[in-house]
Amino acid sequence: MSETLVATDHEISTELQQFDEEARRHRADFPVLSREVHGKPLVYLDNAATSQKPQVVLDALHDYYTRYNANVHRGIHTLSEEATNAYEASRVKVAQFINVPSQSLIFVRNTTEGINLVAYAWGRKNVKAGDEIVLSVMEHHSNIVPWQILAHEVGAKLKYFDIHDDGTLKMEDIDDLITDRTRIVSIAHMSNALGTVNPIKEIVEKAHQVGALVFVDAAQSVPHMPVDVQALGCDFFTFSGHKMCGPTGIGGLYGREEILEAMDPFMGGGSMIEEVQLQYSTWAEIPEKFEAGTPNIAHAIVLGVTVDYLSSIGMGNIRAHELALARYMIDRLEEIDGLTVYGHAPERGGAVSYILNDIHPSDLSTILDREGVAIRAGHHCAQPLMRRLGTPYGATARASVYHYNTTDEVEIMINAIHKARRFFG
Ligand SMILES: *Cc1c(COP(=O)(O)O)cnc(C)c1O
Repeated sequence: MSETLVATDHEISTELQQFDEEARRHRADFPVLSREVHGKPLVYLDNAATSQKPQVVLDALHDYYTRYNANVHRGIHTLSEEATNAYEASRVKVAQFINVPSQSLIFVRNTTEGINLVAYAWGRKNVKAGDEIVLSVMEHHSNIVPWQILAHEVGAKLKYFDIHDDGTLKMEDIDDLITDRTRIVSIAHMSNALGTVNPIKEIVEKAHQVGALVFVDAAQSVPHMPVDVQALGCDFFTFSGHKMCGPTGIGGLYGREEILEAMDPFMGGGSMIEEVQLQYSTWAEIPEKFEAGTPNIAHAIVLGVTVDYLSSIGMGNIRAHELALARYMIDRLEEIDGLTVYGHAPERGGAVSYILNDIHPSDLSTILDREGVAIRAGHHCAQPLMRRLGTPYGATARASVYHYNTTDEVEIMINAIHKARRFFG
Protein backbone atom coordinates (compact mmCIF):
# COMPACT_ATOMS: atom_id res chain seq x y z
CA MET A 1 0.00 0.00 0.00
CA SER A 2 1.30 3.45 -0.84
CA GLU A 3 2.36 5.54 2.14
CA THR A 4 0.76 8.75 1.01
CA LEU A 5 -2.38 9.72 -0.78
CA VAL A 6 -1.95 13.24 -2.01
CA ALA A 7 -4.73 15.72 -2.58
CA THR A 8 -4.08 15.77 -6.30
CA ASP A 9 -5.37 12.15 -6.50
CA HIS A 10 -8.78 13.61 -5.96
CA GLU A 11 -10.27 16.35 -8.04
CA ILE A 12 -10.48 19.68 -6.26
CA SER A 13 -13.01 22.02 -7.84
CA THR A 14 -11.94 25.55 -8.73
CA GLU A 15 -14.49 26.73 -6.18
CA LEU A 16 -12.76 24.75 -3.45
CA GLN A 17 -9.33 25.93 -4.60
CA GLN A 18 -10.53 29.51 -4.17
CA PHE A 19 -11.89 28.73 -0.72
CA ASP A 20 -8.51 27.19 0.17
CA GLU A 21 -6.76 30.37 -0.84
CA GLU A 22 -9.10 32.46 1.28
CA ALA A 23 -8.72 30.03 4.18
CA ARG A 24 -4.95 30.40 4.06
CA ARG A 25 -5.41 34.17 4.42
CA HIS A 26 -7.87 33.75 7.32
CA ARG A 27 -5.53 31.36 9.10
CA ALA A 28 -2.98 34.14 9.53
CA ASP A 29 -5.48 35.86 11.86
CA PHE A 30 -5.54 32.89 14.25
CA PRO A 31 -2.31 32.64 16.26
CA VAL A 32 -3.03 29.15 17.63
CA LEU A 33 -3.35 27.68 14.13
CA SER A 34 0.38 28.07 13.56
CA ARG A 35 1.35 25.90 16.52
CA GLU A 36 2.54 22.32 16.39
CA VAL A 37 1.21 19.24 18.17
CA HIS A 38 3.57 16.26 18.66
CA GLY A 39 5.97 17.94 16.23
CA LYS A 40 3.33 18.18 13.48
CA PRO A 41 1.41 21.26 12.31
CA LEU A 42 -1.91 21.51 14.15
CA VAL A 43 -4.89 20.43 12.03
CA TYR A 44 -7.84 21.70 14.02
CA LEU A 45 -11.04 19.87 13.04
CA ASP A 46 -12.95 20.14 16.33
CA ASN A 47 -14.83 23.33 15.58
CA ALA A 48 -18.23 21.94 16.55
CA ALA A 49 -16.90 21.64 20.12
CA THR A 50 -15.33 25.10 20.14
CA SER A 51 -13.77 27.38 17.55
CA GLN A 52 -10.41 29.14 17.60
CA LYS A 53 -10.13 32.92 18.16
CA PRO A 54 -8.78 35.54 15.76
CA GLN A 55 -6.30 38.24 16.84
CA VAL A 56 -8.99 41.00 16.77
CA VAL A 57 -10.91 39.11 19.45
CA LEU A 58 -7.80 38.60 21.60
CA ASP A 59 -6.88 42.29 21.18
CA ALA A 60 -10.37 43.50 22.13
CA LEU A 61 -10.25 41.49 25.36
CA HIS A 62 -6.88 42.97 26.25
CA ASP A 63 -8.09 46.46 25.32
CA TYR A 64 -11.09 46.24 27.66
CA TYR A 65 -9.04 45.19 30.68
CA THR A 66 -6.19 47.63 30.00
CA ARG A 67 -8.28 50.72 29.17
CA TYR A 68 -11.83 50.76 30.58
CA ASN A 69 -12.58 47.88 32.95
CA ALA A 70 -15.51 48.97 35.17
CA ASN A 71 -18.88 47.65 36.25
CA VAL A 72 -21.81 48.41 33.94
CA HIS A 73 -25.11 50.21 34.63
CA ARG A 74 -23.89 51.31 38.06
CA GLY A 75 -21.31 54.06 38.46
CA ILE A 76 -21.53 57.53 37.03
CA HIS A 77 -17.88 57.85 36.19
CA THR A 78 -16.08 57.83 32.89
CA LEU A 79 -14.86 54.24 32.91
CA SER A 80 -18.26 52.89 33.92
CA GLU A 81 -19.92 54.92 31.17
CA GLU A 82 -17.44 53.65 28.60
CA ALA A 83 -17.93 50.05 29.69
CA THR A 84 -21.74 50.43 29.74
CA ASN A 85 -21.76 52.02 26.29
CA ALA A 86 -19.57 49.27 24.86
CA TYR A 87 -21.69 46.56 26.53
CA GLU A 88 -24.93 47.98 25.13
CA ALA A 89 -23.40 48.70 21.71
CA SER A 90 -22.38 45.07 21.54
CA ARG A 91 -25.93 43.99 22.35
CA VAL A 92 -27.18 46.06 19.40
CA LYS A 93 -24.57 44.52 17.06
CA VAL A 94 -25.26 40.95 18.13
CA ALA A 95 -29.02 41.55 17.85
CA GLN A 96 -28.57 42.91 14.31
CA PHE A 97 -26.42 39.91 13.42
CA ILE A 98 -29.37 37.56 14.01
CA ASN A 99 -32.02 40.18 13.11
CA VAL A 100 -33.86 40.69 16.40
CA PRO A 101 -34.72 43.85 18.41
CA SER A 102 -31.88 44.51 20.87
CA GLN A 103 -34.10 44.67 23.99
CA SER A 104 -35.12 41.06 23.23
CA LEU A 105 -31.52 39.83 23.34
CA ILE A 106 -30.30 38.63 26.75
CA PHE A 107 -26.63 37.96 27.40
CA VAL A 108 -26.24 34.47 28.87
CA ARG A 109 -23.20 32.26 29.46
CA ASN A 110 -23.93 29.86 26.64
CA THR A 111 -26.60 27.84 24.83
CA THR A 112 -27.04 25.63 27.88
CA GLU A 113 -27.90 28.61 30.06
CA GLY A 114 -30.26 30.00 27.42
CA ILE A 115 -32.26 26.76 27.36
CA ASN A 116 -32.27 26.39 31.15
CA LEU A 117 -33.42 29.98 31.59
CA VAL A 118 -36.49 29.38 29.44
CA ALA A 119 -37.23 25.86 30.75
CA TYR A 120 -37.14 27.30 34.26
CA ALA A 121 -38.62 30.78 34.01
CA TRP A 122 -41.14 30.19 31.20
CA GLY A 123 -41.64 26.44 31.69
CA ARG A 124 -42.59 26.42 35.35
CA LYS A 125 -45.39 28.90 34.73
CA ASN A 126 -46.68 27.67 31.40
CA VAL A 127 -46.25 23.91 31.30
CA LYS A 128 -48.72 21.87 33.38
CA ALA A 129 -49.39 18.21 34.12
CA GLY A 130 -50.42 16.39 30.94
CA ASP A 131 -48.92 19.05 28.64
CA GLU A 132 -46.42 17.96 26.01
CA ILE A 133 -42.93 19.10 25.06
CA VAL A 134 -41.60 18.04 21.64
CA LEU A 135 -37.88 17.47 21.00
CA SER A 136 -35.94 15.33 18.50
CA VAL A 137 -33.66 12.32 18.96
CA MET A 138 -30.75 14.30 17.46
CA GLU A 139 -30.73 16.91 20.25
CA HIS A 140 -27.67 17.81 22.30
CA HIS A 141 -28.03 16.90 25.99
CA SER A 142 -28.41 20.58 26.81
CA ASN A 143 -31.62 20.60 24.76
CA ILE A 144 -32.93 17.46 26.48
CA VAL A 145 -32.00 17.51 30.15
CA PRO A 146 -33.50 20.95 31.09
CA TRP A 147 -36.82 19.85 29.54
CA GLN A 148 -36.66 16.50 31.38
CA ILE A 149 -36.15 18.34 34.68
CA LEU A 150 -39.16 20.52 33.89
CA ALA A 151 -41.32 17.63 32.68
CA HIS A 152 -40.58 15.52 35.75
CA GLU A 153 -41.34 18.43 38.05
CA VAL A 154 -44.68 19.44 36.54
CA GLY A 155 -45.82 16.06 35.17
CA ALA A 156 -45.51 16.94 31.49
CA LYS A 157 -44.73 14.44 28.72
CA LEU A 158 -41.73 14.49 26.36
CA LYS A 159 -42.18 13.43 22.73
CA TYR A 160 -39.44 13.05 20.15
CA PHE A 161 -39.10 13.45 16.40
CA ASP A 162 -37.37 10.37 15.02
CA ILE A 163 -34.92 10.54 12.07
CA HIS A 164 -34.52 8.84 8.71
CA ASP A 165 -31.36 6.90 7.86
CA ASP A 166 -29.89 9.99 6.15
CA GLY A 167 -30.15 11.97 9.38
CA THR A 168 -33.15 14.12 8.46
CA LEU A 169 -36.13 14.56 10.76
CA LYS A 170 -39.20 12.40 10.09
CA MET A 171 -41.35 15.38 9.21
CA GLU A 172 -44.16 13.01 8.15
CA ASP A 173 -44.79 12.46 11.89
CA ILE A 174 -45.31 16.14 12.63
CA ASP A 175 -49.12 15.96 12.94
CA ASP A 176 -48.87 13.14 15.50
CA LEU A 177 -46.16 14.88 17.47
CA ILE A 178 -47.34 18.49 17.55
CA THR A 179 -50.94 18.61 18.80
CA ASP A 180 -53.09 20.90 20.90
CA ARG A 181 -51.45 19.38 24.00
CA THR A 182 -48.03 20.67 22.87
CA ARG A 183 -46.75 23.70 24.79
CA ILE A 184 -43.28 24.01 23.29
CA VAL A 185 -41.16 22.43 20.55
CA SER A 186 -37.40 22.70 21.05
CA ILE A 187 -35.17 21.72 18.13
CA ALA A 188 -31.59 22.19 16.99
CA HIS A 189 -31.19 24.42 13.94
CA MET A 190 -28.14 22.36 12.94
CA SER A 191 -27.12 19.03 14.49
CA ASN A 192 -23.68 19.00 16.13
CA ALA A 193 -23.23 15.28 15.38
CA LEU A 194 -24.86 14.76 11.95
CA GLY A 195 -24.58 18.25 10.47
CA THR A 196 -28.28 18.15 9.50
CA VAL A 197 -29.99 21.53 9.09
CA ASN A 198 -33.58 21.18 10.29
CA PRO A 199 -36.67 22.74 8.61
CA ILE A 200 -37.41 25.24 11.40
CA LYS A 201 -39.94 27.30 9.42
CA GLU A 202 -42.16 24.29 8.78
CA ILE A 203 -42.01 23.31 12.44
CA VAL A 204 -42.83 26.87 13.53
CA GLU A 205 -45.80 26.97 11.20
CA LYS A 206 -47.26 23.77 12.61
CA ALA A 207 -46.50 24.67 16.25
CA HIS A 208 -48.07 28.11 15.96
CA GLN A 209 -51.22 26.57 14.42
CA VAL A 210 -51.78 24.65 17.66
CA GLY A 211 -50.68 27.52 19.92
CA ALA A 212 -47.30 26.03 20.90
CA LEU A 213 -44.02 27.96 21.06
CA VAL A 214 -40.78 27.04 19.28
CA PHE A 215 -37.32 27.20 20.81
CA VAL A 216 -34.36 26.96 18.43
CA ASP A 217 -31.00 25.65 19.66
CA ALA A 218 -28.76 27.62 17.32
CA ALA A 219 -25.39 26.63 18.84
CA GLN A 220 -24.25 25.23 15.46
CA SER A 221 -26.11 27.49 13.05
CA VAL A 222 -25.21 31.01 14.21
CA PRO A 223 -21.45 30.34 13.83
CA HIS A 224 -21.72 28.75 10.39
CA MET A 225 -24.58 30.19 8.32
CA PRO A 226 -26.55 33.41 7.82
CA VAL A 227 -29.50 33.42 10.22
CA ASP A 228 -32.55 35.66 10.33
CA VAL A 229 -34.51 34.87 13.47
CA GLN A 230 -37.55 36.90 12.45
CA ALA A 231 -37.71 35.06 9.14
CA LEU A 232 -37.57 31.73 11.00
CA GLY A 233 -40.46 32.98 13.11
CA CYS A 234 -39.42 31.13 16.28
CA ASP A 235 -40.18 32.34 19.81
CA PHE A 236 -36.84 31.62 21.51
CA PHE A 237 -33.38 31.23 19.99
CA THR A 238 -30.03 30.73 21.70
CA PHE A 239 -26.34 30.35 20.82
CA SER A 240 -22.80 30.34 22.31
CA GLY A 241 -20.00 32.84 21.59
CA HIS A 242 -17.21 30.28 21.90
CA LYS A 243 -18.33 28.31 18.82
CA MET A 244 -18.35 31.43 16.62
CA CYS A 245 -14.74 32.63 17.07
CA GLY A 246 -15.68 34.46 20.29
CA PRO A 247 -14.78 33.93 23.93
CA THR A 248 -16.13 31.28 26.30
CA GLY A 249 -18.70 32.19 28.93
CA ILE A 250 -20.85 34.46 26.74
CA GLY A 251 -23.78 33.78 24.46
CA GLY A 252 -27.16 35.15 23.50
CA LEU A 253 -30.79 34.28 24.16
CA TYR A 254 -33.51 35.86 22.07
CA GLY A 255 -37.10 35.75 23.28
CA ARG A 256 -40.15 37.29 21.64
CA GLU A 257 -40.69 40.58 23.43
CA GLU A 258 -44.21 40.00 24.79
CA ILE A 259 -43.21 36.55 26.07
CA LEU A 260 -40.14 37.89 27.88
CA GLU A 261 -42.22 40.67 29.39
CA ALA A 262 -44.75 38.21 30.78
CA MET A 263 -42.03 35.91 32.14
CA ASP A 264 -40.76 35.93 35.72
CA PRO A 265 -36.99 36.28 36.20
CA PHE A 266 -34.65 33.29 36.19
CA MET A 267 -32.32 34.62 38.90
CA GLY A 268 -32.72 37.41 41.44
CA GLY A 269 -30.08 39.93 42.46
CA GLY A 270 -28.52 43.22 41.52
CA SER A 271 -29.33 44.95 38.20
CA MET A 272 -32.52 42.99 37.53
CA ILE A 273 -34.76 45.01 39.85
CA GLU A 274 -36.66 48.25 39.64
CA GLU A 275 -37.26 48.54 43.39
CA VAL A 276 -36.50 46.33 46.39
CA GLN A 277 -38.65 46.42 49.52
CA LEU A 278 -38.15 44.21 52.55
CA GLN A 279 -40.93 41.81 51.56
CA TYR A 280 -41.02 42.10 47.78
CA SER A 281 -39.33 43.56 44.73
CA THR A 282 -40.35 44.74 41.31
CA TRP A 283 -38.46 43.85 38.17
CA ALA A 284 -36.45 45.94 35.76
CA GLU A 285 -37.46 46.10 32.09
CA ILE A 286 -36.17 43.49 29.64
CA PRO A 287 -33.40 42.60 28.97
CA GLU A 288 -32.04 43.65 32.43
CA LYS A 289 -34.74 41.57 34.15
CA PHE A 290 -32.85 38.49 32.99
CA GLU A 291 -29.30 39.70 33.66
CA ALA A 292 -28.95 39.44 37.44
CA GLY A 293 -25.58 40.30 38.97
CA THR A 294 -22.43 41.59 37.31
CA PRO A 295 -22.51 40.13 33.80
CA ASN A 296 -19.57 38.82 31.79
CA ILE A 297 -18.83 42.39 30.68
CA ALA A 298 -15.53 41.78 28.90
CA HIS A 299 -16.74 38.84 26.89
CA ALA A 300 -20.08 40.44 26.07
CA ILE A 301 -18.23 43.42 24.60
CA VAL A 302 -15.91 41.10 22.68
CA LEU A 303 -18.89 39.17 21.26
CA GLY A 304 -19.74 42.36 19.36
CA VAL A 305 -16.20 42.41 17.93
CA THR A 306 -16.65 38.74 17.01
CA VAL A 307 -19.80 39.36 14.96
CA ASP A 308 -18.01 42.24 13.20
CA TYR A 309 -15.22 39.82 12.35
CA LEU A 310 -17.65 37.20 10.99
CA SER A 311 -19.62 39.83 9.05
CA SER A 312 -16.42 41.10 7.45
CA ILE A 313 -15.92 37.62 5.94
CA GLY A 314 -19.62 37.18 5.22
CA MET A 315 -21.74 34.39 6.67
CA GLY A 316 -22.78 33.33 3.16
CA ASN A 317 -19.10 32.82 2.24
CA ILE A 318 -18.46 30.87 5.41
CA ARG A 319 -21.44 28.64 4.71
CA ALA A 320 -20.50 27.99 1.07
CA HIS A 321 -16.89 27.20 1.99
CA GLU A 322 -17.83 24.79 4.77
CA LEU A 323 -20.38 23.02 2.63
CA ALA A 324 -17.88 22.49 -0.20
CA LEU A 325 -15.21 21.32 2.23
CA ALA A 326 -17.57 18.99 4.13
CA ARG A 327 -18.75 17.40 0.86
CA TYR A 328 -15.14 16.92 -0.22
CA MET A 329 -14.36 15.38 3.15
CA ILE A 330 -17.30 12.98 2.97
CA ASP A 331 -16.25 11.84 -0.52
CA ARG A 332 -12.70 11.23 0.65
CA LEU A 333 -13.81 9.41 3.81
CA GLU A 334 -16.17 7.14 1.91
CA GLU A 335 -13.33 5.97 -0.35
CA ILE A 336 -11.78 4.31 2.71
CA ASP A 337 -12.59 0.60 3.10
CA GLY A 338 -14.58 -0.11 6.24
CA LEU A 339 -15.40 3.52 6.94
CA THR A 340 -19.01 4.58 7.55
CA VAL A 341 -20.18 8.20 7.51
CA TYR A 342 -23.30 8.98 9.57
CA GLY A 343 -25.56 11.72 8.28
CA HIS A 344 -26.28 12.47 4.61
CA ALA A 345 -28.92 15.17 4.87
CA PRO A 346 -29.15 17.30 1.73
CA GLU A 347 -29.31 20.43 3.94
CA ARG A 348 -26.24 20.21 6.11
CA GLY A 349 -23.29 21.94 7.72
CA GLY A 350 -19.64 21.11 8.31
CA ALA A 351 -19.78 18.50 11.08
CA VAL A 352 -19.05 14.98 9.80
CA SER A 353 -19.41 11.85 11.99
CA TYR A 354 -17.81 8.55 11.05
CA ILE A 355 -16.72 5.13 12.26
CA LEU A 356 -13.78 3.06 10.99
CA ASN A 357 -14.34 -0.73 11.16
CA ASP A 358 -14.48 -1.85 14.77
CA ILE A 359 -11.86 0.63 15.95
CA HIS A 360 -13.03 2.58 18.98
CA PRO A 361 -13.35 6.25 18.00
CA SER A 362 -11.21 7.21 21.01
CA ASP A 363 -8.37 5.01 19.77
CA LEU A 364 -8.69 6.51 16.30
CA SER A 365 -8.64 10.00 17.76
CA THR A 366 -5.49 9.20 19.76
CA ILE A 367 -3.67 8.10 16.60
CA LEU A 368 -4.87 11.18 14.72
CA ASP A 369 -3.68 13.41 17.57
CA ARG A 370 -0.17 12.01 17.15
CA GLU A 371 -0.35 13.28 13.57
CA GLY A 372 -1.40 16.73 14.83
CA VAL A 373 -5.05 16.18 13.87
CA ALA A 374 -7.66 17.29 16.43
CA ILE A 375 -11.04 15.61 15.99
CA ARG A 376 -13.72 14.66 18.53
CA ALA A 377 -14.45 11.10 19.62
CA GLY A 378 -17.39 10.13 21.79
CA HIS A 379 -21.13 10.61 22.07
CA HIS A 380 -20.96 14.36 21.31
CA CYS A 381 -23.43 15.04 24.16
CA ALA A 382 -26.01 13.17 22.08
CA GLN A 383 -26.37 9.74 23.69
CA PRO A 384 -29.98 9.24 22.50
CA LEU A 385 -28.81 9.92 18.93
CA MET A 386 -25.91 7.46 19.22
CA ARG A 387 -28.37 4.84 20.49
CA ARG A 388 -30.76 5.61 17.63
CA LEU A 389 -27.96 5.29 15.05
CA GLY A 390 -26.79 2.07 16.70
CA THR A 391 -23.14 3.12 16.49
CA PRO A 392 -20.67 0.63 18.01
CA TYR A 393 -19.46 1.86 21.45
CA GLY A 394 -22.23 4.52 21.41
CA ALA A 395 -19.75 6.89 19.84
CA THR A 396 -18.41 8.29 16.58
CA ALA A 397 -15.36 10.17 15.42
CA ARG A 398 -16.35 13.67 14.31
CA ALA A 399 -14.44 16.14 12.15
CA SER A 400 -15.94 19.62 11.94
CA VAL A 401 -14.69 22.50 9.82
CA TYR A 402 -14.62 26.28 9.94
CA HIS A 403 -13.69 28.92 7.35
CA TYR A 404 -9.98 28.57 8.21
CA ASN A 405 -9.77 24.87 7.25
CA THR A 406 -8.37 23.67 3.91
CA THR A 407 -8.49 20.57 1.71
CA ASP A 408 -4.83 19.97 2.66
CA GLU A 409 -5.96 19.52 6.23
CA VAL A 410 -8.64 17.07 5.16
CA GLU A 411 -5.93 15.14 3.31
CA ILE A 412 -3.74 15.05 6.41
CA MET A 413 -6.67 13.58 8.34
CA ILE A 414 -7.31 11.02 5.56
CA ASN A 415 -3.64 9.98 5.63
CA ALA A 416 -3.77 9.66 9.41
CA ILE A 417 -6.87 7.44 9.15
CA HIS A 418 -4.97 5.19 6.74
CA LYS A 419 -2.16 5.01 9.28
CA ALA A 420 -4.66 3.98 11.95
CA ARG A 421 -6.05 1.26 9.64
CA ARG A 422 -2.58 -0.18 9.16
CA PHE A 423 -1.84 0.09 12.89
CA PHE A 424 -4.97 -1.79 13.90
CA GLY A 425 -4.50 -4.19 10.96
C1 LIG B 1 -22.41 22.95 21.76
C2 LIG B 1 -23.86 22.74 21.65
C3 LIG B 1 -24.72 23.00 22.73
C4 LIG B 1 -24.21 23.43 24.07
O1 LIG B 1 -23.46 24.60 23.98
P1 LIG B 1 -22.67 25.14 25.27
O2 LIG B 1 -21.86 26.25 24.72
O3 LIG B 1 -21.86 24.00 25.77
O4 LIG B 1 -23.71 25.56 26.23
C5 LIG B 1 -26.06 22.81 22.55
N1 LIG B 1 -26.57 22.41 21.37
C6 LIG B 1 -25.79 22.16 20.31
C7 LIG B 1 -26.41 21.76 19.01
C8 LIG B 1 -24.41 22.31 20.42
O5 LIG B 1 -23.63 22.06 19.37
